[in-house]
Amino acid sequence: MDQLSIHVQLTNHPKEKPAFDQLSFGTVFTDHMFTMDYTEGKGWHDAKVVPYKPITLDPAAIVFHYGQTVFEGLKAYVTQEDEVLLFRPDENMKRLNRSNERLCMPAFDEELALAGLRKLIQIDKDWIPNVEGTSLYIRPFIFATQPYLGVAPSKTYRFMIILSPVGAYYKEGINPVRIAVESEFVRAVKGGTGSAKTAGNYAGAMKAQEVAEAKGYSQVLWLDGKEHKYIEEVGAMNVFFKINGEVVTPSLNGSILEGITRKSVIELLQHWDIPVTERQISMEELFEAYESGLLEEAFGTGTAAVISPIGELFWQDKKLVVNHGEIGELSKKIYDTMTGIQTGKLPDPFEWRMKVEL
Ligand SMILES: *Cc1c(COP(=O)(O)O)cnc(C)c1O
Repeated sequence: MDQLSIHVQLTNHPKEKPAFDQLSFGTVFTDHMFTMDYTEGKGWHDAKVVPYKPITLDPAAIVFHYGQTVFEGLKAYVTQEDEVLLFRPDENMKRLNRSNERLCMPAFDEELALAGLRKLIQIDKDWIPNVEGTSLYIRPFIFATQPYLGVAPSKTYRFMIILSPVGAYYKEGINPVRIAVESEFVRAVKGGTGSAKTAGNYAGAMKAQEVAEAKGYSQVLWLDGKEHKYIEEVGAMNVFFKINGEVVTPSLNGSILEGITRKSVIELLQHWDIPVTERQISMEELFEAYESGLLEEAFGTGTAAVISPIGELFWQDKKLVVNHGEIGELSKKIYDTMTGIQTGKLPDPFEWRMKVEL
């Protein structure tokens, strides 16, 4: 389907834009949004860009009761040449459809959704902040709208995309974070929904986050849901360790979210001929590596921070201080390269960028 089939209604009341050097995360939204509806028997229809506004839903809508909803997160950047770049948006749309599948929600046309996203960005392009480190955060999401209290997949859905200009993640330079290893709560289990970006996973993770924060840690390191032994993720990020020259990340096992930053970091390391392995890794093994002085670096990966270095891990009354609590050399190199590619400052040998025609 081409972009002509996306109806456009422009706002008559453009909002005042925020100061682009004062932005935080996810509090300000642009003038327009993309929406599209699904009805059983009819499929997806009414793709359009309309003024950003609240939505009305029946109180019995299935999303409120049984949580049938999925989302994505990606970013757009404006380059020094005033070009607008998206980072691997096709991967986000593919993953959104995989999440859909897990939640018994209907597949959508990824090309149409990307066309809708491009149209929305064209219309709201003046909202893309151009201050160093800032970006336009993009939130596609789909939710069940049928009013029905029976536990069954909805027969109607809405797909929306909203945009939010966001500030630099690292305003005061990249400071490694302190992480508490979580041995009681779990985020996901094999056979569950951990590999889907669905709301319930995040609601269920907030308690552990709250407890960790109260103890002075910024995130938790999640262990597997069965034995509480094997490392899975850090907060809502994938996790990597550099041990004796080799980079290790937990293999995708059904309960880990398949991050696009994770995938890109693996491809980058392979390109640099740095050994990188996806495998099961236990907290025990990580501690032994630490004791032997072989744990060189640790970092999380995700769209929001790109790379989040880990300075300290707290596990069973033991403190593992990684690289003296400072960002590691490789972590820094990955961060600089990834953000350089994303913002157009470096060449794009992997063809990860998608340019939005303005
Ligand atoms: C979104 C997410 C990630 C990171 O995925 P990216 O595509 O790199 O942003 C990792 N873990 C969880 C639980 C997530 O929700």
